[in-house]
Amino acid sequence: MEKVKLLYEGKAKRVYSTPEEDKFIIEFKDTATAFDGLKKADISGKGEANCIISSKIFELLTIKGIKNHYIKRLSEREMLVKSVKIFPIEVIIRNRVAGSMAKRLGLDVGKELERPVLEFCYKSDELHDPMINEDHILALNLATEEELKTIKEMSLETNKILIEFFRKCHLELVDMKFEFGKDSQGNIYLADEISPDTCRLWELGTTTSWDKDRFRKDLGGVEEAYREVKERVINTPIDSKARIFIRLKPSILDAQGSVILNALKSLGFNEVIEVRVGKLLELKMDRKVDEPERIERMCRELLANPVMEDYEWEWIE
Ligand code: UDP
Repeated sequence: MEKVKLLYEGKAKRVYSTPEEDKFIIEFKDTATAFDGLKKADISGKGEANCIISSKIFELLTIKGIKNHYIKRLSEREMLVKSVKIFPIEVIIRNRVAGSMAKRLGLDVGKELERPVLEFCYKSDELHDPMINEDHILALNLATEEELKTIKEMSLETNKILIEFFRKCHLELVDMKFEFGKDSQGNIYLADEISPDTCRLWELGTTTSWDKDRFRKDLGGVEEAYREVKERVINTPIDSKARIFIRLKPSILDAQGSVILNALKSLGFNEVIEVRVGKLLELKMDRKVDEPERIERMCRELLANPVMEDYEWEWIE
């Protein structure tokens, strides 16, 4: 799939249209900004790290049933996604006190929270993404009540899944930012990216940052941090199952199906007028890589005969 037109260029990503209206390509840049663009630098390898980290996390979320915009990773820094219209809202979820919450409420950085805190911000660079509440969102028609309910539920569920996954990477998920989008049918998807640019990640049991705070606070080792998180995420397996369904192409005569059809008729089941036989495979996997199209390749190269058969597949939990 090729890029057609640059639709939007942000601080860390470019979004392109593709020949298919319902798909965009996101390209991750090495540029990093902080404090509303006042601080800016190139971090070598950041684009690649964020693309690979986000891709694997979106794959995990798909398996866990969280609808998200990710389709597949196209290259080290490009991701194919569903085209969605982004809500002008940022959702922040916090598991520990840090960043603006510590400042605003005068709390100690690192303080554990009794339950996750969910905050909303209005997406506006000029206004510095001010915090808003649910009433603002509804009164200003930024989302409907039902959409807001879905966004909150998806955010809290995603938080639970990510806490557990990052723990396996020996990282503590302190807080993060989500963005959501809506397709032309009104379906809501988790969108944007999930990476050390949008999450605070600490070495488990410590307050050592492995995220963009290294850049924000001039802590040093910025490139190493992105590389380290990428390596840990890549090396943490995702348990998953794929269900693959293979059947003969409609144009191919199904001899086995005809035998079954005749047998059914001979037993008096005359209402059956056609039988087509398919194959169902379930693959249990312990995947470290999120290489695009691996299941597609398994189907094409071994499991199905592409000349005579069609296949479909899906992740199952
Ligand atoms: N965050 C983000 N984009 C923003 C604001 C926040 O990705 O425009 C992330 C940030 O990296 C952190 C979390 O959201 O993981 C909470 O950020 P906070 O409100 O503490 O603001 P910050 O201290 O990052 O300015």
